[in-house]
Amino acid sequence: MGLYDKFARLAGEREKFQTSGLNPFGTCIDEIYSATEGRIGDKKVVLAGTNNYMGLTFNTQAIADGQAALAAQGTGTTGSRMANGSYGSHLALEQELAAFFDRPSAIVFSTGYTANLGVISTLAGPDAIVLIDEDSHASIYDACALGGAQIIRFRHNDAQDLERRMLRLGEKAREAIIIVEGIYSMLGDVAPLVEIVDIKRRLGGYLLVDEAHSFGVMGATGRGLAEELGVEQDVDIILGTFSKSLASIGGFAVGAKAMDVLRYSSRPYIFTASPSPSSIASVRSSLRTIAQNPGLRDKLWSNAHRLYRGLAELGYELGPRISPVVPVMIGSKEDGLRLWRDLISNGVYVNLVLPPAAPSGITLLRCSVNAAHSEEEIDTIIRAFAALKD
Ligand code: PMP
Repeated sequence: MGLYDKFARLAGEREKFQTSGLNPFGTCIDEIYSATEGRIGDKKVVLAGTNNYMGLTFNTQAIADGQAALAAQGTGTTGSRMANGSYGSHLALEQELAAFFDRPSAIVFSTGYTANLGVISTLAGPDAIVLIDEDSHASIYDACALGGAQIIRFRHNDAQDLERRMLRLGEKAREAIIIVEGIYSMLGDVAPLVEIVDIKRRLGGYLLVDEAHSFGVMGATGRGLAEELGVEQDVDIILGTFSKSLASIGGFAVGAKAMDVLRYSSRPYIFTASPSPSSIASVRSSLRTIAQNPGLRDKLWSNAHRLYRGLAELGYELGPRISPVVPVMIGSKEDGLRLWRDLISNGVYVNLVLPPAAPSGITLLRCSVNAAHSEEEIDTIIRAFAALKD
């Protein structure tokens, strides 16, 4: 059997996408003009398929700070923090994150994926029981697999189902680790954190929340869903990424002072290179921008409302709640692919999401808005969808 034979079906399916036109899983965005505009082939498009929620990828200060760090500290650290040493800027960012979250400790990782892998796999070893939402991001599943914990999945956003499963654990529930996300990246819905915290208060356990898509986006100061719902004190560790609202690359965890010990036992922290100085500098810059400009959040939500309302009025079936992520449900893979390509022809780039990346076997077009979109750009997205309505 050849090395790649077992991928024959997948390769065939992808080939079909490729030969019938633009490939949604290998899209080349030929040029990026701003946080909201780019070019695909000969088509100028509004970018409505990113995670750039605060719209900061072209923030002048973040670019200047990134460039200055590049010139002063070089292109990369070329090694891991444990073996080769941290730069002062890694430590400064950790202090700034801890201060922003008003928590004793923060750890910076090389990506959000690595942050989840690094924290969860280390805490959730073979003796641990982890309860996770069935729609959890792949990094959460992979982290549990790496750690070797027993995984119990509960129905998406179903606190009652979580409680039933916790009750079945009896005394063991006291040590169990519950992991949920703030905003879920495909449907734009949020974890029922108040109910989950209530279960934790009654039955015990530890709570980790991945705020990858809700950091910057929710809460009075942008700390995420836990802040928005007033339950931060009940969350043991908040996980996050620099690749969405912070418009760079890297990841983080914030928590108690004792969390610091994970650095010395976390393979995904120890055995990978640390983030480059320019990434760290642009993250520090964007963190300040987010802290000082709550208006960005207001603009983001105003755009989210405008897009959701516009698409709902056209009769499209959307996600369960208004959110910067607006999924448009599509009947079949084939329809999804056709609509995705037609949207590009009409000047709008969104994400085509097929199972298993989309939950419950559905095909969806994932639209996302950011704080840099103008109202005209939101209307361009709506008009492009209107043109495709049969
Ligand atoms: N957690 C969630 C919920 C995510 O959606 C993602 C990225 N899509 C990650 C973690 C990983 O983040 P990163 O891209 O920084 O690796």
